[in-house]
Amino acid sequence: MGKRYYCDYCDRSFPDSADNRKKHIQGVQHQRLCKLHYDAYKEPEEILKDEMEKKPCHQFQKMGYCNFGPGCKYSHITAEEMQQLREEVQQQCLRKQGAANCEEEKEPDLDSWLVKRTMNKEIKPTNQPSVIDIEAWSLPPELASLPNLPTSLLPPNPQIFLGNVQSEWG
Ligand SMILES: [Zn+2]
Ligand SMILES: [Zn+2]
Repeated sequence: MGKRYYCDYCDRSFPDSADNRKKHIQGVQHQRLCKLHYDAYKEPEEILKDEMEKKPCHQFQKMGYCNFGPGCKYSHITAEEMQQLREEVQQQCLRKQGAANCEEEKEPDLDSWLVKRTMNKEIKPTNQPSVIDIEAWSLPPELASLPNLPTSLLPPNPQIFLGNVQSEWG
């Protein structure tokens, strides 16, 4: 019994010979596992970019398989996988940069509008919110960045006092 060659990617071994190795490394299964292995270390963003730079593989699109396997120079990604990648990229982006920088298309909500509005105003040098001043009523930024605050924590909408908005409380 000669030496055996163990392939880490495929988690299997076979009698070691130059021929066997070559055959194995060119095998579809090995190439797929090998690609999966490296993709696992790639950022979804990178994979997405890679796939978008490639043209779609006609054979793969039509037949659902391609003789070139993962080594094909055209993209084998499906619309579903593409969508999945996009979601992953978006989620990573959210984790990395926080919601504010990532969701550019998001409508500004009332909270961020109020915070921005307050930041644009001259901030009075007082830490005592005892004086009732509609302009000064806003959330501290750490709270304002939290979604779904309980109503009791939200600052009153100044518009209510101007009679433009119906109060939703009570
Ligand atoms: Zn292998
Ligand atoms: Zn192909």
